[in-house]
Amino acid sequence: MNKKLRIGVKSITGCAGCQLSLYFIEDVLLELLDKIDLVAAPMIKSKNEEEYDVLFIEGSVSSQDDLDNLLKFRKQAKFLIALGACASHGCMQSMKHLMNEKEVEKDVYNKFPSDKRLKPITSVPIHKHVKVDFYIPGCPPNNEEIAQVFKWLVQGKRLKVYDKAVCHECSLKENYCLLDQGIECLGPLMNGGCKALCPDYNHPCTGCRGMLDDANLKSGKEMLKDKGFDPDMMIKRMTKYNALQFKEFEKPPEESK
Ligand code: SF4
Ligand code: SF4
Ligand code: SF4
Repeated sequence: MNKKLRIGVKSITGCAGCQLSLYFIEDVLLELLDKIDLVAAPMIKSKNEEEYDVLFIEGSVSSQDDLDNLLKFRKQAKFLIALGACASHGCMQSMKHLMNEKEVEKDVYNKFPSDKRLKPITSVPIHKHVKVDFYIPGCPPNNEEIAQVFKWLVQGKRLKVYDKAVCHECSLKENYCLLDQGIECLGPLMNGGCKALCPDYNHPCTGCRGMLDDANLKSGKEMLKDKGFDPDMMIKRMTKYNALQFKEFEKPPEESK
């Protein structure tokens, strides 16, 4: 009999929504019980082990404690998956990259915890500190996508990355484009794979799955501006989940090397 895959789920700074999305696929997890062993899942289990074939990590590195834990998790895992927008792109806590960090921390915390390890540090997605083997983006990630990844893992298949813009799936659904209705949608610049969830409900995409690796920010911004959208509003939307990515895209070429 083949050995079961030892799966772990761990969290650093995040809201726990990604973990919940994973536990919401309980029907798939139950179906795969003879192939996987959930050896660590502190949110739902009291006994947790420390060696994993595959480890899902939720959250961004936002304190020294996060960093220490992340480095430990990487050593314990053969294959590490960034689960969700915090782990993949930094999410909302990375907005600090575009603000006065100290002022934000003072406004949010007023008084810092006495334990230095819990004090906030500049918040970054996990790949800034460790090698990441696969990403499941989204805030929160889509249950069906997580289920698909589990199936690929047990079948020993290569995990596939969705690398097209949100507009791709949106157009396939024949949605009436929000941009043509005067609504600022960032779909052309953002990673799809969510089946165009927001535009499907007439809500503009704000990029919870991160910017496309080859997003042409300059022409995208010009295109949105030409359509009469407010550049400040667009930037706010772009940076809601992806402030660090936005900052890196905006760097002049000599700085971004
Ligand atoms: S990506 Fe979203 S759902 Fe997941 S931990 Fe971060 S804020 Fe929560
Ligand atoms: S509504 Fe948004 S995601 Fe859909 S096609 Fe238009 S810009 Fe793209
Ligand atoms: S449409 Fe945009 S904001 Fe909505 S789920 Fe997809 S990537 Fe996230």
